[in-house]
Amino acid sequence: MIAAARLYELTGDKRYWDIADYFWNEVTSERSFCTGGTSNFELWRSDPGVLSTQLSSQTAEDCCVYNMMKLTRHLFAWSPQAQYIDYYERVLFNHRMGTIDPETGTTVYYLPHGKGYPKIYAKPFDSFWCCNGTGSEEFAKLTGTIYFHDDSSIFVNLYIATEVKWAENGTRILQQASFPEEQGTTLLLSTEKPVDIDVKLRVPYWAKSGSVKLNGRPIPAFADPGSYLVLRGPWKNGDRIELSLPMHLHAAPMPDKESLQAAMHGPLVLAARFEEESREKWYRHFTSEEKQEPLPTLQFKGKPNDPASWLEPATEKLTFRAASQNQAVAFVPLSSIVHERYSVYHEIHDSNS
Ligand SMILES: [Zn+2]
Repeated sequence: MIAAARLYELTGDKRYWDIADYFWNEVTSERSFCTGGTSNFELWRSDPGVLSTQLSSQTAEDCCVYNMMKLTRHLFAWSPQAQYIDYYERVLFNHRMGTIDPETGTTVYYLPHGKGYPKIYAKPFDSFWCCNGTGSEEFAKLTGTIYFHDDSSIFVNLYIATEVKWAENGTRILQQASFPEEQGTTLLLSTEKPVDIDVKLRVPYWAKSGSVKLNGRPIPAFADPGSYLVLRGPWKNGDRIELSLPMHLHAAPMPDKESLQAAMHGPLVLAARFEEESREKWYRHFTSEEKQEPLPTLQFKGKPNDPASWLEPATEKLTFRAASQNQAVAFVPLSSIVHERYSVYHEIHDSNS
């Protein structure tokens, strides 16, 4: 599909755009979990839209989402719509981040999505999977896609601390962000002379509200979730843009089983965190050689599609807690799980029925 995308760029033949576009839409609408991940044992083993039966220790493969990120970059370059970067952010913050072991630097093959399985990292010298190669590529280009530009505007796609230089018009943007711990970002512009460009800030699909300030003064405008807020120039040296994007809890139900849901906070998938695996199980040669025992799916009582009815904030930033059958369960961003077992999808029972 990426080759088809490249063929469109080289030949201009619209058929190749259509192939890439159809595939992207099919995967993201019918085949993707709340993390943006797709596949089960490297395959699609169900009908489109049927995902609730596909939670295994090998859901979902890293290479799949990595290549979807590459495909997304092509599609965005031809048609810069926020939906592409919404998907990119979903994958980056939930699937890709947190698949590298902090001690050894080895990466995982699959990111399990359910039933209490752990992440399993490659052994530094005895195992090498396709996804370890993918991981090497991926973590070498985390700075990609944060910014794009056309002739007259710069797209600020992702809220990540960076500095970008646009040499043709002598503009530099320093982004000071501690996202997602901080719910927003600050951009400082440096220009050699006043520059008349549009600065396009992505308002993510999860941002139900938000606000923006220019040089400390609130601007009485915002944009819908899943679009770009366009700030028009001219800009002068030292201009400062502050974007605030408050995060809320929201539900990610399975498309074919409404009661099986993941909880999300802003862009982040929250995982129920269980006990740490014993150290000899952290690194393995090949996951399918060893049978892993699943844990029971957690049950919670609450309002349908409202995780705020069964989750409450815990003391640390971005953490929550809930009670399941009188047991306390900790919820943390999925990307922060390293060696603990965890679950992403849970059964939510309507507390009113
Ligand atoms: Zn792979």
